[in-house]
Amino acid sequence: MIIAIPKEIFPGENRVACVPDVAAKYIKQGFEVQVESNAGLKAGFTNEDYEKAGAKVVDRVTDLYASADMVLKVQRPVDHPDEGKNELDLMKSGTILITFLYPLHNSKLVQECAGKGINVLSMDMIPRTTIAQKMDALSSQANIGGYKSVVMCADVLGKIFPLMMTAAGTISPAKVVIMGAGVAGLQALGTAKRLGAVVEVSDIRPAVKEEVQSLGGKFIEVETDEDMQDEGGYAKEASEEFLQKQKELIFKHVTEADIVITTALVPGKKAPVLVTEEMVKNMRTGSVILDMAVEFGGNCELSENGKTVVKNNVSIIGEPNLPSLVPTHASDMYSKNILNLINHFTKEGKFELDLEDEIIQGALITNSGEVVNQRIKDLLQ
Ligand code: NAD
Repeated sequence: MIIAIPKEIFPGENRVACVPDVAAKYIKQGFEVQVESNAGLKAGFTNEDYEKAGAKVVDRVTDLYASADMVLKVQRPVDHPDEGKNELDLMKSGTILITFLYPLHNSKLVQECAGKGINVLSMDMIPRTTIAQKMDALSSQANIGGYKSVVMCADVLGKIFPLMMTAAGTISPAKVVIMGAGVAGLQALGTAKRLGAVVEVSDIRPAVKEEVQSLGGKFIEVETDEDMQDEGGYAKEASEEFLQKQKELIFKHVTEADIVITTALVPGKKAPVLVTEEMVKNMRTGSVILDMAVEFGGNCELSENGKTVVKNNVSIIGEPNLPSLVPTHASDMYSKNILNLINHFTKEGKFELDLEDEIIQGALITNSGEVVNQRIKDLLQ
């Protein structure tokens, strides 16, 4: 079976879906690994590194796709600037594609994959179960993103984070507010604390209060009778009434903050608006907002996807792909998530889709020309 690793062509993407160490592991199991020339370069891995691992470096992407049985990618297929075709059109029918497809947001693309006979395993649809934890690429990448969000804000803020008592006077610690205490938010909390900031965190799932407190954060709690968590542990879409109450409560916290990092997402839905224009108008001069949900509509009314804008002297960072800015470690972790997925379904050197398995039922989106995932089928109806 030939595993192919193309160079990512999605704008701004620096990661690669398989690092050389992981390529060596596939080869040891009996797979053949082919890598497009310079596929790993932006993540710090050269063609020589892949060759040393035993992989074959392929110059032409058309040759790579033509011989692939399985394609490992980071981003969803897009039009190839050099080939005048979509990446999907370069794959042969029956190819297994493992990538972040975000099918709940890209239903047209799902139908195109089915139409072309591409069998997609989407990394964002792996169930968050204990057995699948080592394949959980949403978590590995969110961890990196949460760390990077703090480092980026620290770089833009004209202040330092820690309390400092010096002969030249006392500097009070920076105040950081984090909206959303999922994987990214908790990592941002830990990182900001390590730099010495005072951190406040808000989430609609009361279950995260203890986690926030154990990491040294102060929890901003919106009291409600609504049940905000689904059976999978994810946030439910909050009602308008709840969001209004939340905005009133966080107004004071946001407007007194030096940094606001927003990470709030509801799977398959547009991100909730939490930081309004009115709040930004009342924020401190020189403060910084980083909107990690910008790709899914944004948590801040004024953030712009892919841009840093300055409004009322507040810098608003709308970077949609923070893990790509830490490409070496992000690629390393993502590669291992995919390796664990493939290993789990490889018996005696042969990868097989076990359609009865709950991980496959969650992550397999298309198979043999059909949309097979129940959540996506429901969405398409
Ligand atoms: P996410 O990226 O889907 O969302 C980020 C956070 O935003 C969540 O904590 C969510 O509650 C919060 N949010 C949504 N609407 C909000 C609002 N209006 N205001 C404030 N916050 C809001 O979350 P995630 O990091 O992917 O984690 C989702 C769940 O999955 C969590 O319960 C997490 O503990 C769980 N999880 C489980 C495993 C596992 O068991 N393998 C691994 C990772 C995550």
